[in-house]
Amino acid sequence: MVDSNNVELGFVEKTDSHLLCSFHFPSKVGGKPAWLSLSPLPSNKDLECSKCGKILSFLMQVYSPFEESPKAFHRALFVFVCRNVVCCSKNKNDNFCVLRSQLPRDNEFYSPEPPKEEADGPSAKSFQDLCVVCELRGSKRCARCQSATYCSKEHQEADWKTGHKAVCKSNLQTTATETTSKTKVYPACNFPEYELITEPETLATDSEKEKSEEDKLEEYEEFMKSKAAESVLPDSAAKDLEKMAISENSQDQVFMKFKERIQDEQEQVLRYQRNGKPLWVSESHIPEDGDIPNCSCGLPRKFEFQIMPQLLTYLEVDSLGDSIDWGTLCVYTCSGSCDIGNSYHKEFLWKQDFSDSNI
Ligand SMILES: [Zn+2]
Ligand SMILES: [Zn+2]
Ligand SMILES: [Zn+2]
Ligand SMILES: [Zn+2]
Repeated sequence: MVDSNNVELGFVEKTDSHLLCSFHFPSKVGGKPAWLSLSPLPSNKDLECSKCGKILSFLMQVYSPFEESPKAFHRALFVFVCRNVVCCSKNKNDNFCVLRSQLPRDNEFYSPEPPKEEADGPSAKSFQDLCVVCELRGSKRCARCQSATYCSKEHQEADWKTGHKAVCKSNLQTTATETTSKTKVYPACNFPEYELITEPETLATDSEKEKSEEDKLEEYEEFMKSKAAESVLPDSAAKDLEKMAISENSQDQVFMKFKERIQDEQEQVLRYQRNGKPLWVSESHIPEDGDIPNCSCGLPRKFEFQIMPQLLTYLEVDSLGDSIDWGTLCVYTCSGSCDIGNSYHKEFLWKQDFSDSNI
């Protein structure tokens, strides 16, 4: 018998970019954000790394309507991260930002009817200038062609090197204005793009559970080896995962549970369970009373989903030397999903890394 426990697991899949735009209400990883509220977008100030000051990179968004509130008929959570490795420190969340956006069924942007497959639809571009590179607000303009817009000097430079140099000149000659392409990729600024597909977690039956712990560990080590062999793993993630599999003796109980729970679905990058409990990767740095700040509306924030370390293997972060890293990223959101109109509202992320005894 298969037992469901209300956890939705998320997996990444390659999909056509055009299926991941705003009016399809996607859950997705990487690429550019598919903004839910199309205006006003969050201010770029809110999306600067609190450590290095650079614009954060879009990591993922989860479409998660809040049935209890008609104001949140549509609802999406957006996670951003600074990919500068020096800003990534153990058990610290200051290189991340989570934003919530929500809209009623009748709203100024989208039809109340479900989107059709191929049709074109509304996008944030119709309401304000967007950065060509990351599709945050583009308040800076290329002084030469007056056409391309950017969030920051860094992204202007990135676009210049990635081809704007040539287009900018031709603009001067032809006064053509189309310089942006939804599908153009800036590897230094955008993560690879995937659709995020969810399905319910099923728990193994008792007879399956009888499989000895040793067998399981062996399978796990095999899996990790095969992962490492594919060499898609960033070094640090590969290291962590290998270490996870090896130093069995010194591991804490929480970590053992973590491994056991993800055993059957090793590729999961997301665990979604609103008001549920996170699956911790270590017994250290678990939040206590007061560690998760209340929403500005006064309501407590509750756990909604967690991003798993497996996601790192799909991000193609630097494979040489250190790269950004996490054990798990737990997102806590306003328990009432309070009314925020068309704006983007900051929620809270708790980062837990693997403990030293496990690595
Ligand atoms: Zn930074
Ligand atoms: Zn940008
Ligand atoms: Zn230009
Ligand atoms: Zn609130």
